[in-house]
Amino acid sequence: MKKEFLQQFYKKSHAEKLHALYEAEVISQKTYEYLESRSIHLEPSVADHMIENYLTNFEIPLGVALNYVINGQEYVLPMVTEEPSVIAAASHAGKIISQSGGFHTTFPKRLVVGQLAFFDVKDSAAASQVLMQHTEEIIQLANASHPSIVSRGGGAREVKVRILPADKTFATPELLVMHLHVDTLEAMGANIVNTMMEGIKIYVQQLIGAEALMGILSNYATEALVTATCTISPEYLARGQYSGEWVRDAIVKAGQFAAVDPYRAVTHNKGIMNGVTALVLASGNDTRAVEAGAHAYASRSGQYRALSVWTTNDAGQLVGQLTLPLTLGTLGGTINSHPTVQLCYEILGHPTAKQLAELAVSLGLGQNLSALLALVTEGIQKGHMSLQANSLALSVGASPEEVPAVVSLLKKEAHLDTEAAKRILNIVRQTSQAQRPHHTL
Ligand code: NDP
Repeated sequence: MKKEFLQQFYKKSHAEKLHALYEAEVISQKTYEYLESRSIHLEPSVADHMIENYLTNFEIPLGVALNYVINGQEYVLPMVTEEPSVIAAASHAGKIISQSGGFHTTFPKRLVVGQLAFFDVKDSAAASQVLMQHTEEIIQLANASHPSIVSRGGGAREVKVRILPADKTFATPELLVMHLHVDTLEAMGANIVNTMMEGIKIYVQQLIGAEALMGILSNYATEALVTATCTISPEYLARGQYSGEWVRDAIVKAGQFAAVDPYRAVTHNKGIMNGVTALVLASGNDTRAVEAGAHAYASRSGQYRALSVWTTNDAGQLVGQLTLPLTLGTLGGTINSHPTVQLCYEILGHPTAKQLAELAVSLGLGQNLSALLALVTEGIQKGHMSLQANSLALSVGASPEEVPAVVSLLKKEAHLDTEAAKRILNIVRQTSQAQRPHHTL
């Protein structure tokens, strides 16, 4: 990537931004021309095959976060979001973190979990033992039901058994749940794992003499935990009257607050997911699966807590760490047939499924830093103001040509609200009418 072409990206016009991405070798000439002619879009004939009862496409802006250095490599990260400040905040954090060595990730294993659930098992401990004595046969049968993933190098790897105690509140008896862990390679793996769970169901039922209620993938991806870490020197955190050390310590406290208070943790984690979900959506993956898994992981101690942890190391640097359960795919589902998703893979440099998860968790950590940095210093509203003014101007009906004038006047207002935006739009229109040359016939 020739990143010198991406300098001051946010100040460029839309046409200049597209050209800069091409000059920086983030996108090909062909893609640049497609983007310029606005011919990358989802054809209704394709969309009609994606979902039932298709009507039209629902559009949300796609932008890019810059300055991301992850495991020593530069990335431009595509993000799909309707929230005005998210991409600016992500790029801001990317810049701070890249000055301090960038993000480093670990991803020890990426296995997808499938479940078989049994009610009415007479002796769960004995049944569990039987299952553990037959793990090899179960794995072989699972692989035989989806041989193509095995021939690609993936397949079923492990069997685990859990016994869940009876729960009076929900009138649930003791449950036996068998897990199958599957390496689905580049796929998110829902279809692969569901096929395997159905393939082993009858055999497992016969082994333990009980009927399975269901066999299905779990989106709680505990066997695919990916971690991003960043280490930031305080000098990059200083803001106005706040020293870098002061900001560092305040960010650590903000992390501690979110670790112990679910009210704060939800908003803290929502900020993380601003980045993660925007990239997950851009990559054609299932945002609901990722979010459900992330929030379950945040509750793993029995209390909902912050997903990230901020500490100080012996050298006085701020250390951020975020772990998420992520089984993103780079193919399958609708990834291959969606032209804008394919554009996003080009922007990302065609990562593997593991790399894509590493980018998502890094972006989540960057997004979190940016939010905490603003919160402990000038507050979140200041940075949001001009972007919020843009949205307000559009919401009261300002045309794209009128937006800059409305925004500049709105920023001088004590309170940004619809009434103020309407009043200012009227002033802008009256002024421009008064300035228009009058023709007398
Ligand atoms: P698909 O079944 O769409 O695609 C995966 C297939 O791609 C594989 O079976 C394999 O088929 C092929 N493939 C080619 N190259 C590779 C490779 N390198 N690595 C892996 N596979 C490869 O996708 P998934 O199984 O990932 O299922 C995802 C879909 O399932 C999504 O649409 C999702 O929304 C949906 N879904 C999600 C659920 C959930 O999240 N709970 C539940 C049910 C469905 P082959 O080897 O035969 O070529």
